[in-house]
Amino acid sequence: MRPLVVQKYGGTSVGSVERIQEVARRIESTVQAGNRVIAVVSAMAGETNRLLELAGAFCKDPVARESDVVVSSGEQVSAALLSIALETRGTRARSFLGHQIRIHTDDAHGRARIRSIDADRLAAFLAGGGAAIVAGFQGINEDTQDITTLGRGGSDTTVAIAAATGADACEIYTDVDGVYTMDPRIVPDARKLERISFDEMLELSSLGAKVLQIRSVELAKRYDVRVHVRSSFKEETGTWVVPEESNMEDGLVSGVAFDRDQAKITLTRVPDRPGLAAHIFSPIAEQGIVVDMIIQNVGADGSTDMTFTVPRNEADKAVEIVRGVAAKIGAGEARTEGDIAKISVVGLGMRSHAGVAAKIFEILGGEGINIHMISTSEIKVSVVIDAKYAELAVRVLHDRLVGTGKVDS
Ligand code: ADP
Ligand code: ASP
Ligand code: MG
Repeated sequence: MRPLVVQKYGGTSVGSVERIQEVARRIESTVQAGNRVIAVVSAMAGETNRLLELAGAFCKDPVARESDVVVSSGEQVSAALLSIALETRGTRARSFLGHQIRIHTDDAHGRARIRSIDADRLAAFLAGGGAAIVAGFQGINEDTQDITTLGRGGSDTTVAIAAATGADACEIYTDVDGVYTMDPRIVPDARKLERISFDEMLELSSLGAKVLQIRSVELAKRYDVRVHVRSSFKEETGTWVVPEESNMEDGLVSGVAFDRDQAKITLTRVPDRPGLAAHIFSPIAEQGIVVDMIIQNVGADGSTDMTFTVPRNEADKAVEIVRGVAAKIGAGEARTEGDIAKISVVGLGMRSHAGVAAKIFEILGGEGINIHMISTSEIKVSVVIDAKYAELAVRVLHDRLVGTGKVDS
């Protein structure tokens, strides 16, 4: 059977009629080279934001079910336009929406998780040649058959199709030509990585590098799908996201990421009793709010201050929940604090090197940047600082740590 290639095209890559033509040309040449092609597309650049704004024109918190019906329409349009472009060029093509290939998800509107994909319909179409064009970012709730969306950047996750179909290749076409040591828009002399391990990419994605959405990396790792991230405007090889290889630890730090979409919440005077942390964090988790860093400080009077971070757009909701809990457990006040940014340094080499965290603190201290929170894992160090220092911090950390392979350079 002819090889099966899954390609994903992001919003900029399908952002205009001319760009859709370019994508059609690339798909056509992949088909002509003897492949079967499944192309997953995002909405045209800016469209999802526009649709979200429209859905929010009536109230701050529109009904999630209807909001998903609105925002998923962006991908419906781009998938059909690309199909039209291909058919016009003489390449057989057909668009498929989430429900047509049964991309079944849970019921978490706006951030649904894929449970299963029925690839049979795609396979049947592809048996006749050409390209199947799948609307990314959308699925249907398995129980109610309602349209769901997969979270911002969620078209990447639709490449779960590569796992479901056992594709021979999975290519993510975007507006950068690979994964860099730092977002090249912020640090222009960032370096393109030839390869990066699933685990490092998972960290970078979860820490703010939006080049790949985190769930797509989780799926790629789980199903061992090697992903090639590359530019839709150039022919060159991009970056391969692959299982860890033995020589990957050569460099100490492989990337720096930053996230300005977090907010810090502090609850004061929490009584120092077993079980209270669960009282505070369980109701937050029940609302699907992801708490990231947590620190607890015991004060002179024996009570504690609890500080933690949540996604900025869920901070109000989290503070409200915490205020409810505070009243019940006799804690003090809950408040959102300051404009913060989280800066992270990631690298497999950190596993076997003790000095990286200390070096990071020294570099930031040297710039007069105060650190509010710290968290570490085997292969990353994250710090929370004032948002106004984010770009400076990222630049100095990148300059001093990336690519030198040494901590003490
Ligand atoms: P698409 O619409 O194709 O999905 P995105 O905007 O979601 O594209 O992701 C690509 C963007 O990710 C790039 O334009 C770049 O600014 C940003 N980015 C952030 N971190 C990195 C990184 N480490 N390497 C490459 N790009 C990055
Ligand atoms: N169009 C959606 C978004 O803007 C999904 C995607 O582009 O991956 O988030
Ligand atoms: Mg994206």
